[in-house]
Amino acid sequence: MSFESLGLCAELLSAVAAQGYTDPTPIQEQAIPVIFEGCDLLAGAQTGTGKTAAFVLPIVQRLAEHVPTEKRRRPRALVLVPTRELAAQVSEQMQSFGRRLSLRSTKIYGGVNIRAQMERLHRGIDIVVATPGRLLDHIEKGTINLSRIEFLVLDEADRMLDLGFVEDILKVVEYLPSQRQNLLFSATYSQSIKQLADELLDQPRMIEVARRHITADGVTQAVYGVERDRKREMLVHLIRTGKWQQVLVFARTRYGADKLTEELLFDGIKAAAIHSNKSQSLRSRTLAEFKRGELRVLVATDVAARGLDIEGLPHVVNFDLPQVAEDYVHRIGRTGRAGEDGMALSLVCPQELPLLQAIEGLLKFAIPRQTLAEFPRVELKGGAKARASRAIVKAARPRSTSPQSKKPTAGSGKAPGRPAKASKPQKAAAPRRTKVSDGRPGSKGGRRGGRS
Ligand code: AMP
Repeated sequence: MSFESLGLCAELLSAVAAQGYTDPTPIQEQAIPVIFEGCDLLAGAQTGTGKTAAFVLPIVQRLAEHVPTEKRRRPRALVLVPTRELAAQVSEQMQSFGRRLSLRSTKIYGGVNIRAQMERLHRGIDIVVATPGRLLDHIEKGTINLSRIEFLVLDEADRMLDLGFVEDILKVVEYLPSQRQNLLFSATYSQSIKQLADELLDQPRMIEVARRHITADGVTQAVYGVERDRKREMLVHLIRTGKWQQVLVFARTRYGADKLTEELLFDGIKAAAIHSNKSQSLRSRTLAEFKRGELRVLVATDVAARGLDIEGLPHVVNFDLPQVAEDYVHRIGRTGRAGEDGMALSLVCPQELPLLQAIEGLLKFAIPRQTLAEFPRVELKGGAKARASRAIVKAARPRSTSPQSKKPTAGSGKAPGRPAKASKPQKAAAPRRTKVSDGRPGSKGGRRGGRS
C-alpha cells in the first residue's frame, strides 16, 4: 500500500517523502483510513511502529480542510501523552507535518516556565500536545479553552495509567465538547485500558499491530545472573571488552541512575543520566549529546526513556529490571530498530527473580542465561511457565531469526557480539566505591578521595 492510496493530500505526500518514508507502516495502513472515516479508534501499537504519524497525518489533513478565520484560533486537536519527551516528539511531528498546511501546534508540559506556554496559547493554536498535569494547570488558570476540540488522542495510554494519570485524564475530558473523535493508542490491553476505552470511546474500531517482542527478531536477549553489588563491575566489563560505543542503560530509580552515572564517570566511561528530576533543557541537551556520539552511556529511568526516539542502538542494558514487565518490552525496543541487529542484556541479581519471572511470563519464553568467566555463576531459575513454553518457542521459530540462535556462548567469558579475545580476569569482588580496572597496564582500581 502507498501513502497516495491512503488518501493523503499533496502537501502531506511531499512531507512524508521529505521525511524519507517510502511506504506506510502497518499501523499507518490500518489507522489512517479509520481516522479519515471519522470513527473512534482503539489501537494496539508500541513506540517504533510509526504510530505517531498514524494519527498526526490524518488529523492535520482533516483540520486543514476547514481552518477557522478567527484571529486567535482555539485548539481543535488535543493529544495527551505521559511524558515530556513524548510530548516533544509528537509535537515535532505535528509541527513538521502541520506546518505544510499552515496549522499551528504547541507542546505543554511541566518542568518549564508556564508563561511561554500561556503566550503561545494566547496567540492562537490549532493543535496541543500535552501531559495531563500541566494541561490542568492551564485549564484552572483559564489560559486554554478546549471547547473547540474535534480530536482527542490518548497516546501511550497504558503508560499514562501506570503513572496514575487516569483522574487527570477524566478531569480534562470534562472540558471537551461531547461531539469529538477519540483515538486511544496503547501498547497493552489491560483491564484498566478497557475501562478507559469504555468510558471515552464511542463504538471504536479496534486495530492491533504486531508487538515488538514478537517482531524484533534482530534483537538478541540475554540474562546475566550477578550479585547486586557486582552489577556495575559487570557492566563496565561488558562495555570495555565488547568495545561498546553506544549503550542505553536502564536504572530503576532516579537516584540509582545518578549513582551509576557517577560511578561510570569515575571509571572513565563518558556517561550521563536522564530522568524526571533533570530539567527539560538538560534532558534535551543530554539526549542530543548521546545522539551525536559524544556520550558512550546514557543511563535512563523508564519515565524519561519512554518515547525517546533513539534509533538503531546496538546495545540496551537493564541494570535493574523494570517493576512493570511491559516496560521490558519497551526498553528492548530501543535496540534493533529498522531491521538493525541489537542486543538487550539484563543484569539480574537473585532478589530480582520474581521480576524476571513476570517478564518471561509475558514474553512466553525464557530469556537465555549467560555467564562470564570473570564473575561467579549466579543461578536464576525461570518460571515454570516460561520454561515450558521455551521449547515451544524454540520449535516454532526459524533458527535464523530466533533470539536463541544468536546467543553468545554460555560461559565463554566473552562479551557477546565481539570476536574472541582473552580478557584479563577481574579481581575479587570490588566494593562499589572501587574503580573498576580497565585491564590496561598501569590502570588500577582505587578509592576516589573525598567521595562519600
Ligand atoms: P513512532 O512509533 O511514532 O515513535 O515512530 C518511530 C519512528 O519511525 C520515527 O522515527 C518515525 O519518524 C519513523 N517512521 C514513522 N513512519 C514511518 C514510515 N512510514 N516509514 C519509515 N519510518 C517511519
